[in-house]
Amino acid sequence: MALDLNCIFCKIVTGDIPAQIVYRSDNVVAFDDITPQAPTHVLIIPTIHVENIGDLAQLSPTITADLFSVAKQIAAERGLSGFRNVLNTGEEAGQSVFHAHLHLIGGRSLAWPPG
Ligand code: 5GP
Ligand code: ZN
Repeated sequence: MALDLNCIFCKIVTGDIPAQIVYRSDNVVAFDDITPQAPTHVLIIPTIHVENIGDLAQLSPTITADLFSVAKQIAAERGLSGFRNVLNTGEEAGQSVFHAHLHLIGGRSLAWPPG
C-alpha cells in the first residue's frame, strides 16, 4: 500500500508527525533519528509504505538504490570520512519500525562487530 495510516514513518512523510527533514524527493525522505546513536544519525526511507528493505528491493530496485545514493550524498555534505549504513529486518534483528529505513550513522569511530 502507498501509505499506512498507523505507521509513524508514513506520518513523517505526510508531515503529520514532525521531524528534522534533511532530504526530500518524490521517492525518498531523510530525517534525523529521534534517538541519535552518533553525531550523524539519519534515517532514509521510501515515501511508499513497505515493511522492510527486502520487500522494497523486490518492489523497486530503483528506490532501493536511491536510499544508498542519498546516504552517500548526506555523508558527503557533512564531510564524514566514514559512515555506516544499517538495515534491520525483523524484531530479532532490532527492527522496531516496520517501514523500511536505512540508517546513516557517522561522526564518531564505530566498533565492529555490532551488538
Ligand atoms: P529500527 O530499530 O527499526 O532499525 O530503527 C527505528 C529507528 O527509528 C530508531 O533508531 C528510533 O530511534 C527511530 N524512531 C522511532 N520513532 C521515531 C520518531 O517518531 N521520529 C524519529 N525521527 N525517529 C524515530
Ligand atoms: Zn509507513
